[in-house]
Amino acid sequence: MFDELNSRPADSLLALIKAFQADDRPGKIDLGVGVYRDAMGRTPVMRAVKAAEQYLLETQDSKKYLGPEGDMQFVSLLQPIIFGKSPTFTQRLVGIQTPGGSGALRLGAELIQAANPSAKVLLGTPSWPNHAPIFSSARLPVKEYAFVDLASQQVTFESVIDALSSNREGDVVLLHGCCHNPSGIDFTMEQWRRITELLVAHRLVPFIDLAYQGLGDGLEQDAAPTRMVLDAVDEALIAYSCDKNFGLYRERVGALYVMARNGDDLRKAESNMASLARVNWSMPPDHGAAIVRTILESTEMMAMWRAELEEMCQRVNGNRAALAAASPDLAFISRQRGLFSNLSMSKDTAVALRTSHGIYMADSGRMNLAGMQPADAGAIVAALRAEGC
Ligand code: PMP
Repeated sequence: MFDELNSRPADSLLALIKAFQADDRPGKIDLGVGVYRDAMGRTPVMRAVKAAEQYLLETQDSKKYLGPEGDMQFVSLLQPIIFGKSPTFTQRLVGIQTPGGSGALRLGAELIQAANPSAKVLLGTPSWPNHAPIFSSARLPVKEYAFVDLASQQVTFESVIDALSSNREGDVVLLHGCCHNPSGIDFTMEQWRRITELLVAHRLVPFIDLAYQGLGDGLEQDAAPTRMVLDAVDEALIAYSCDKNFGLYRERVGALYVMARNGDDLRKAESNMASLARVNWSMPPDHGAAIVRTILESTEMMAMWRAELEEMCQRVNGNRAALAAASPDLAFISRQRGLFSNLSMSKDTAVALRTSHGIYMADSGRMNLAGMQPADAGAIVAALRAEGC
């Protein structure tokens, strides 16, 4: 039967990792794959994570099954970090642990499909390349609209307003909560206010993807747009990832939260989330969520985590400032947030940056700001100039 399959293209970022490793030029710079890197170019296990693993090693006395909802203490201890301390949110939300933010998006997509099979998903482009396929494979039609113009590095807010004004009640709007991937361009609070008004007026359901909380302007500021939207709408979904802000990538740590109109709806959503989890992965992997729970249960480990996350955030923003200082043409980079910015360039230019200058970024022009040192800014600017961008 397998001869009926069409081959699929390999992940181009993985090919980029291999090409970077094979390059023996000493000045090569890796702005490719989307993970945080420290000043030594490493993606370290965070100090609080090491401490929590040590604690778990010594104290965990069973690995028996937990159930499709995973570690519910993890799910509830994350809530104040994401949603603040407002009791209104706590009463109106249910959550479930998922394998990463990707699992949360997939589960949310299937929940929407089960609840309202005629819902469309509105997706601003460019976006994380996995968004559209996740929704489509859950049989939800995806309607894309231009969110940002890379040539001018500006939000095309008119097209956002148009998209949100011309759709049916119950349609879903995917929104990046902070640190937009790939552009680094987030809405201003004023734009979020307008978006919130449109969501309410047109009875659209926000699905907020929060995968980088703490890596933009800090934990509280990065959550502010999400909290503002949730304050105004009746129903929402939030896909959360701990894989970047706890550096747990391969452990696959995330959660899906749903806000509903009343307790009955919440209970229905909750039971559907559990049964959808059951048919997808039965139960989420435990170790990463147990680490996060352990950190959030301990004042000391929590303080370590917050301090290291703050260092990571400052390092990325320091690199942004260094690039902006090296060239007025890149001033916009210091106004963007998160791991990524997306320069406007052709694939040929991205290839030339690799082959002629040893600067590796995605073919789309997306660069990971954590992949450089402030001292690399001059070389990056010179290479961009040499390639005419
Ligand atoms: N959403 C966005 C915007 C992302 O960039 C990513 C990861 N690159 C995810 C979700 C998925 O995160 P995870 O690795 O936790 O599945």
